[in-house]
Amino acid sequence: MADRTADGVADRVADRVAGVLRHAVRAGVVGSTGTVAGFIDTAGVRDSVAALHEAFAEVPSVLHTFAAKAASLTPVLRLLADQGMGCEVASAGELRIALDAGFAPADIVFDSPAKSRDELAQALALGIAINADNLDELRRIDALRTPACASVVGLRVNPQVGTGAIGAMSTATATSKFGVALRDPGARAEVVRAFADRPWLTRLHAHVGSQGCPLDLIAAGIAETYRLAEEINATLGRRQITSIDIGGGLPVNFAGDDVRPTFTEYVSALRSAVPGLFDGRYALVTEFGRSLLAKNGFIAALVEYTKDAGGRRVAITHAGAQVATRTVFMPESWPLRVGAFDATGRPKDGPVLAQDVAGPCCFAGDVVAHARELPELAEGDIVVLYDTGAYYFSTPWAYNSLPYPAVHGFTVSADGEVRLAPVRPAQTLDDLAAASGLAHAGSLSELLESTH
Ligand SMILES: *Cc1c(COP(=O)(O)O)cnc(C)c1O
Repeated sequence: MADRTADGVADRVADRVAGVLRHAVRAGVVGSTGTVAGFIDTAGVRDSVAALHEAFAEVPSVLHTFAAKAASLTPVLRLLADQGMGCEVASAGELRIALDAGFAPADIVFDSPAKSRDELAQALALGIAINADNLDELRRIDALRTPACASVVGLRVNPQVGTGAIGAMSTATATSKFGVALRDPGARAEVVRAFADRPWLTRLHAHVGSQGCPLDLIAAGIAETYRLAEEINATLGRRQITSIDIGGGLPVNFAGDDVRPTFTEYVSALRSAVPGLFDGRYALVTEFGRSLLAKNGFIAALVEYTKDAGGRRVAITHAGAQVATRTVFMPESWPLRVGAFDATGRPKDGPVLAQDVAGPCCFAGDVVAHARELPELAEGDIVVLYDTGAYYFSTPWAYNSLPYPAVHGFTVSADGEVRLAPVRPAQTLDDLAAASGLAHAGSLSELLESTH
């Protein structure tokens, strides 16, 4: 076991990040010339995908898709496609970047509770798999689908197995907005009838998670979905359901370096809860996001000022709610480990001090870590937010017209040589101005003037 610093970060990881930071500072991508940036551990992503494949190695047929919303960056998706993954998308935008990244339509799964007719028509025309969220959506597909259509079509169910530790992250509660609520009166019979009426409806889908949900809750949801598939096939007297999409939702350990739970532990939990799932009668689809990317990315941000307020030391950095939205608004549910580095990227040591690590946004709650014990931060230092490879810098929030940050991929060779590759440039002020309606700058004044 590696030695731990006060913040719980193993020295091994801090050293690795320091190597990348030193290089990034020299390259000018973070520090005084780049106030905040995201970094992706390219080999780490590859290894996480390999661990996922390995955990399911004994399943005869499985398509692992990556939930695009967890890192909606084209080079990341391309890397995942090259590692043999498919892609789960939930909007026209995600579908577009998945196609740009090079996923074959047959390896793309379209989930969303709000698919429009146009989006459904496009997905059906391309042969992309669709998981209908509800029975009304199935009726839309009835009208749009042609007999030659190559799309696999499934139905999402909500097994209503309960809530995890974070209500907003729990998809299988009684009143969740997702899927057909299976335990509601009459719902199960309606689902069976929907399959009986549609021989092309061949997949059941459940996504039970995510952060804050224990493995046995997730496994119970999948067990319920499996039982329903068995019931439908038995009732119809034919093996119409040929695949089960078990979703993603594996939680991530944000408190330390260990990957916990592992994909292997997840498969073991599933194996005991649903032994029949792995016997080859059903092809499986998975849709992991956070568990593949979270530990393979970090945010680095410049400390612009430090101050004292009411006896509390506050470090004002350039990473706040625009890149760590959930952490800022729900700090108890989404705590992040913070690392303190000097201006050259060396880990800081010395006595620790309770400090607020605040962001640049103009509201008082824009604090990513409260009273965190860290070596004393100073102007020009760099803070690192660990485990932010999923859902953080890839999905920024445009508050205060703060530009979204640059993202860089990195590798570290056996002898410690760091290489960087661009993933996304920072939003420029020109991009930002255009996105703010520059082309229509005078439109409201003109409207008012022309209205008598
Ligand atoms: C968000 C989402 C996922 C991925 O969830 P993670 O917790 O990131 O693994 C998978 N499937 C669906 C339908 C989702 O909405």
